[in-house]
Amino acid sequence: MKNKRGAMDKTSKIKPKNDLSLLQYKVTQEGATEPPFSHSGFEKDTKVFVCVCCDSKLFKIENKFESGSGWPSFSSPYSSEVITEHRDESYGMIRTEVKCKKCNAHLGHVFEDGPEPTGLRYCINGVAIDGKK
Ligand SMILES: [Zn+2]
Repeated sequence: MKNKRGAMDKTSKIKPKNDLSLLQYKVTQEGATEPPFSHSGFEKDTKVFVCVCCDSKLFKIENKFESGSGWPSFSSPYSSEVITEHRDESYGMIRTEVKCKKCNAHLGHVFEDGPEPTGLRYCINGVAIDGKK
């Protein structure tokens, strides 16, 4: 994985893909979806959620909400700079795929049925993100 220009990550640490569990690999690298309600959750004092592949900050605890979908849900990303959105027409559905901007890992999808004020629901695979204090 090559470093994006001007990457400011002081550790410059892109985890080798073989550090990922099989499910993490399938989700982040192949766009798979973890089974709903399969993720065990995050530490209680988690404040920030980072990409499991490259540690880029992706979501904040303030924007996490319980959607009942079985996947971690957020009303907005950490900033508009950290993710990219792509039209996804797989499985006969038109959805918007969400990826880590830094390393291109698949994270999940964004839907327009979230809470105010954004009205967005970022439906994210729990295995694609790590909770940090
Ligand atoms: Zn990443």
